Amino acid sequence: MPETFKAILVSRDAEKKQSVAITDLTEADLMEGDVTVAVEATTVNYKDGLAISGKAPVIRRWPLVPGIDFAGTVISSSHADWRTGDKVILNGWGVGETHFGAYAERARVKGDWLVPLPQGMSPHDAMAVGTAGYTAMLCVIALERHGIVPERGPVVVTGAAGGVGSVAVSILSSLGYHVVASTGRSAESSYLTDLGASEVISRDELAQPAKPLAKERWAGGVDAVGSHVLSMTSYGGAVAACGLAGGMDLPTSVAPFILRGVCLLGIDSVMAPKTVRMEAWRRIGTDLDLQKLANLSTTIGFDGIIDAAHDIVEGKVRGRVVVDM
Ligand code: NDP
Repeated sequence: MPETFKAILVSRDAEKKQSVAITDLTEADLMEGDVTVAVEATTVNYKDGLAISGKAPVIRRWPLVPGIDFAGTVISSSHADWRTGDKVILNGWGVGETHFGAYAERARVKGDWLVPLPQGMSPHDAMAVGTAGYTAMLCVIALERHGIVPERGPVVVTGAAGGVGSVAVSILSSLGYHVVASTGRSAESSYLTDLGASEVISRDELAQPAKPLAKERWAGGVDAVGSHVLSMTSYGGAVAACGLAGGMDLPTSVAPFILRGVCLLGIDSVMAPKTVRMEAWRRIGTDLDLQKLANLSTTIGFDGIIDAAHDIVEGKVRGRVVVDM
């Protein structure tokens, strides 16, 4: 009898009605790939919530094991870069969307998709960062490349109590930025100041249609929500746009671009090339305080994934959720 392992499987019936079940699979059920990994830790990202709840068409192959990121140990490999026993991280590349993902004790993927676990970081730590934290780092790097250094003035982080937001607040404050955290949960103010936010503002301030050009409040921002931050960005500033937790629309006009030279920096983590990923994970290893990381994450077991997925799309999750398999 082949060895079985547990997995979450999302299926669809003839009427396209989606269902989610915990099931047993064997390695023969996994999809093509040249590296098989024992998944030791994973996480619940907003996109995983959309996939499991069916609130957005994240899953594009049926049935599918969801889960867009994992950390674990290679158990077999025919890829030149990886050997049995190597510790690896996977984010994106369509895993958990079109390729069987992280919510199983085994994953088979392309070796080209993997990056090494940074020295000194456990699989649990890596997933406390997860795709959300790695995306936050991509945003910080993009702001730096645009010359948004702490001396330029405050930076705003929207969806601050969420995963991307919490890691962005932590990293930016550790780097010396004056961080303005925007949240819809005023009860999380002390959580955000503990992570390093200098100011906490209400999400309502950024949800109302603003004038095309409003008072200059910040030099830059990390926008996980899709909000009115551009009109309040000061001359020559930049906003890294990575999320849509508040909706898909982009409420702005050309005014910030043509009158203040403001730039909108698009951030994609899913198809980012390996060199970009390696740089982001290297920077996470140096610039993210592990104590802050522990404070912003909670740990659940495999059986808690489905509930956490529903909670995250309802905006009930604070910081990051790590799954120890
Ligand atoms: P979380 O759910 O952890 O965080 C999202 C936060 O946004 C919430 O905590 C809440 O913050 C805020 N929020 C939620 N609903 C609304 C709303 N209706 N209006 C305004 N604010 C809202 O998700 P993640 O941090 O994992 O992801 C954040 C976003 O970034 C998602 O849209 C996700 O798809 C995207 N993303 C994009 C990536 C990329 O490659 N570009 C990679 C990873 C994530 P608060 O309570 O503080 O208000």
